[in-house]
Amino acid sequence: MNLKRREALRILGAGTLGLLSQGFVIPGKDNRHIITLSFDDGFKKSSIKTAEIYEKHGLSCCLNIIASAHLDQFQLPNEYHAWPVGDFEMWNDLKKRGHEIMPHSYKHTNLAEVPLEEAKYWTRKCIDVFNEELEGFAAQESVFSLPHNASTPELEEWLVTQFRIIRTHGGLYNPLPYKKLVRLGCGGFGPGNIDQHLVGSIDAFLEGPPGWFVYNTHGLDEEGWGPLSSGLLDELLDRLKATEGVEVLPVLPALNSVFPISKSLVVPD
Ligand SMILES: [Zn+2]
Repeated sequence: MNLKRREALRILGAGTLGLLSQGFVIPGKDNRHIITLSFDDGFKKSSIKTAEIYEKHGLSCCLNIIASAHLDQFQLPNEYHAWPVGDFEMWNDLKKRGHEIMPHSYKHTNLAEVPLEEAKYWTRKCIDVFNEELEGFAAQESVFSLPHNASTPELEEWLVTQFRIIRTHGGLYNPLPYKKLVRLGCGGFGPGNIDQHLVGSIDAFLEGPPGWFVYNTHGLDEEGWGPLSSGLLDELLDRLKATEGVEVLPVLPALNSVFPISKSLVVPD
């Protein structure tokens, strides 16, 4: 198959490929299923498109940024990063528009493969950049998504003293949010297109008990490791929004949904 034909198939999108034709199992009324697609690496074109697709559905997306990736001296960690990335002007703009902009390390070092003190050094450097560049940033109220989803128990123990919560290895299914939850597992698929894997995984999740599904996505269409077709994302959000019991949320709004607003707080007039 030549490139043009591959591109054509991608442009046709998931609907044409029939990936979503089965629909989803509708959970019961008290069957809460939270879905977070957690987009890593901050590719410019993909991030803008992702935000636009979420906005079209009245939703906020979740973008995880490498703190130094926009700088000239940034060295690509591997071939899956060879696309232009956004800068903090763009991240501030997207944050103002209601999207979740969170740190994904300083330079994408695998923090499980370096000594603990070095992992802390790069993480502090990442926090410094975010403090400097992202308006309203506070590490203690943030999500740290580990590069390569790689961490050690010792590193995690330290990271949870720096951030509100971390996202690392551990599988797609997490418990529903609770106050002391500080670690999310996630899963993903790659390096090829993730459409079928994502849809199949969500379908299986919705057939099961309540919980919080966290999938590590990257770029759209042709960008990054394990790209997702933009047409599929659009169609998926449309269907999920219409599925009873399903909430598509970034990490912090999900965490903050632990305590519903008490009726007693409503002052009668
Ligand atoms: Zn990454």
